[in-house]
Amino acid sequence: MTSGARGSTGWANYSIGDFSLEASWDIPPGRITAFFGPSGAGKSTTLRLIAGLLRPSAGHIEIGGRVVFDGEEGVLVPAHRRRTGYLTQQFHLFPHLKVRANIAYGLDDARSATGQERVRHLIQTLRLEGLEDRYPWELSGGQQQRVSLARAMAPGPELLLLDEPFNSLDAELRRVLRSELRAMIVDSGIPTMLVTHDREEALAMADWVQVMDQGRMISEGEPLDVLGQPGRGRVARLVGVENLLDLVIESQNPRDGTMICVGEGIRLEVPLDQEGANPGSGRADGSDAVRIAADPPRRVTVGIRASDIILSSNDLKGSSARNRLQGVVMEVEAHPPGYTITLDCGRILQCHITGASMAEMEIKPGQQLWAVFKASSCFLVQE
Ligand code: ADP
Repeated sequence: MTSGARGSTGWANYSIGDFSLEASWDIPPGRITAFFGPSGAGKSTTLRLIAGLLRPSAGHIEIGGRVVFDGEEGVLVPAHRRRTGYLTQQFHLFPHLKVRANIAYGLDDARSATGQERVRHLIQTLRLEGLEDRYPWELSGGQQQRVSLARAMAPGPELLLLDEPFNSLDAELRRVLRSELRAMIVDSGIPTMLVTHDREEALAMADWVQVMDQGRMISEGEPLDVLGQPGRGRVARLVGVENLLDLVIESQNPRDGTMICVGEGIRLEVPLDQEGANPGSGRADGSDAVRIAADPPRRVTVGIRASDIILSSNDLKGSSARNRLQGVVMEVEAHPPGYTITLDCGRILQCHITGASMAEMEIKPGQQLWAVFKASSCFLVQE
């Protein structure tokens, strides 16, 4: 099943009403690019422009080395000739066709030996054996998702367009299908564009992430670089950094590469702000070990991921973690596969823990706990 050996590249502009979009992409064969961003950012519109369901006001789109749209040259290949496999969250299976016929639908040579072999191969790869003669309504959500994926892949597309394909599935099934789908895409060599607003999904599936907001790409890069510790405020908020604290710099310690940031009810040790390093006023003894921040104090936003915080029932005094905050549990919320604990430490902190930790600690609202995290788990968010 090798196709799409030339990837897809292009750019497209489009506007409708007040909304204007400027998108661009470059996806090598067998690679997955995630379009990540909030609802209304323009992700689905981008996919529709590439699929040929919408016409860009300007642009140049190549799929599998072939130009399918060029505004200046007047090239416009219709949707059904673009060789894209387009999968949306609704699956859109034909209710009157059985699984086998649904998969074979887009094949010109469905009756030939090669066509039949292709369908058989997809049924096997997507583990649909035994379900060939069922109707879509006789399938579970996960099975329907696989059938629609098989149908999208059957004609040997040069580009896969996946628009929130896991949305209607439960969390456990998503996790399983994600890794299966990723393996299949890499194996098939088909370049893939994945639309998602789920950070975990983008991290699990994508080779490259483009963050979109209000019709513009505001950041792109390796998934961990963009979604791990995002440096820019808007990106940090979009990718859901759970804890963003507005603080002021109290003092800087260049030797340790750290500084103390304070706010009402909270005091944190965080990595030094290298770019905006503040000379402040040196110590009386002339050493530069500790610098007192200038007046007026500089404001910073400090981000901490919920998963980087350890919860403990006592003060881990002997630990190397520089930040230990005592707080009261406000809320315990199941967030499969773990739990989110909301802790009031003077400021509200969201913390993630695993199911096993929850079972052991039996955390309940009202309980006193310590939130413990390293200075290096804190990062500065530039607005
Ligand atoms: P996303 O997929 O990122 O959630 P969409 O691409 O679906 O975003 O939508 C992007 C923007 O385009 C939205 O602000 C939406 O209001 C606007 N939009 C999409 N389709 C239409 C339409 N048919 N008429 C008016 N506005 C539209």
